[in-house]
Amino acid sequence: MKVIRAKSAGFCWGVERAIKVAREESRGGERTVYTDGPLIHNRQMMDALGKDDIKEVGDYQSKKDLKISDKAEKESVVVVRAHGISPQRREYLKDLGLPFRDGTCPDVGIIAGKVKSHADKGHSVVIFGDPEHPEVIGLVGYAKGRSHVISNEADLHQLPALGDNVAMVSQSTMFTHEFKHLSGLLASKYPNLLVFDTICGATKERQSDLVELVESGADAIVVIGGKHSANTRKLAKLAASYDRPTFHIETANDLNPLNFSEFSTVGVTAGASTPEFIIRKVCERLEQI
Ligand code: SF4
Repeated sequence: MKVIRAKSAGFCWGVERAIKVAREESRGGERTVYTDGPLIHNRQMMDALGKDDIKEVGDYQSKKDLKISDKAEKESVVVVRAHGISPQRREYLKDLGLPFRDGTCPDVGIIAGKVKSHADKGHSVVIFGDPEHPEVIGLVGYAKGRSHVISNEADLHQLPALGDNVAMVSQSTMFTHEFKHLSGLLASKYPNLLVFDTICGATKERQSDLVELVESGADAIVVIGGKHSANTRKLAKLAASYDRPTFHIETANDLNPLNFSEFSTVGVTAGASTPEFIIRKVCERLEQI
């Protein structure tokens, strides 16, 4: 079976940066690095980082108090996840009294800046995203109670009256065509709407490379990445929308050769938090089928 791999499959710069920050702080395992929730949304990579004593201690949404033993044997440090956190959570983490480093992706930082500056100026801020995702939970924290999260058109129609000054941003990993559609609808209601397309470049690139896989003749698509990873789930949804059998897997062990017996070409892509060693293994396994 022929395997075509998307050019952009694998780590984005924000994930690479968060891992670099955590590894620098761990100093080869000399210090314990606590991340408030998963540093990135990939279980296998978090396990690999565990070898450098980089440990996830918070919950998925970074809401609960952290349980950090004050009798730790080694010096320890807190690192903020790539998805970012709210200012309130930042204050809480800083108050723990441990050294503190920020692994927030700068692209998420830009969205937080837009939310904060417009909320400060009195705008209502509409955030297109998943209200349960840690990135969105963090962004809401910057809006001083002035934000409204919408995931679809039905949510948009249920928004209360927002006043004359409204701004709209997106979670970094959403679909561009959905953002355009929803911002267009909102603009027809609020002519002064300020629209900021804050879907990150890495997400856009992965989505357009997926279309290229389909156009290059892939009969089926394999999307590799964590089940919690928003951008991976979006890639799987996009692939399925092109009417191609789509398999969202986490590792090569999830591949069932029987599922691929009818295909001559398979396209492979991976979310922005999927490590290279997993992608390579999946491609090798597919080529053997
Ligand atoms: S997917 Fe985009 S926003 Fe998220 S970490 Fe990567 S570059 Fe940053």
